Amino acid sequence: MQKYRNIGIKLTPQRLAVLEFLEGNKSHPSAEDIYRAVKNRYPMISLATVYNILETLKEKGLVQELNIDPSKKRFDPDTSSHHHLICMGCGKVIDISMDYSPHIPETAIQGFEVKRVHLELYGLCQDCREK
Ligand SMILES: [Zn+2]
Ligand SMILES: [Zn+2]
Repeated sequence: MQKYRNIGIKLTPQRLAVLEFLEGNKSHPSAEDIYRAVKNRYPMISLATVYNILETLKEKGLVQELNIDPSKKRFDPDTSSHHHLICMGCGKVIDISMDYSPHIPETAIQGFEVKRVHLELYGLCQDCREK
């Protein structure tokens, strides 16, 4: 994979498999989800290895870790600033690609300089609402 050549990590087949699985992946998978997917191609891979790979990718800024699911960490290959819709019915996490920043009154943040805004909107997705 040409495009991964300059990311500054040694590309083992397992790392590449994780990168390829995450590429354009909008499902915000957990480490377990990634492990299950990659295991099909690399039956020898362990969950601990997947965790290590994700840690490395996180350090290199290739993936961001989301703490939106209390039961497990989710990973997002989209490291740009964006917001998330979280379904309380099925646990689906959907990107809000619109650049939206709420205006928070100066008095509420007490001189705090906001660098990044991440909104988590909880509710029910279309599929769950139709059930
Ligand atoms: Zn849902
Ligand atoms: Zn996302």
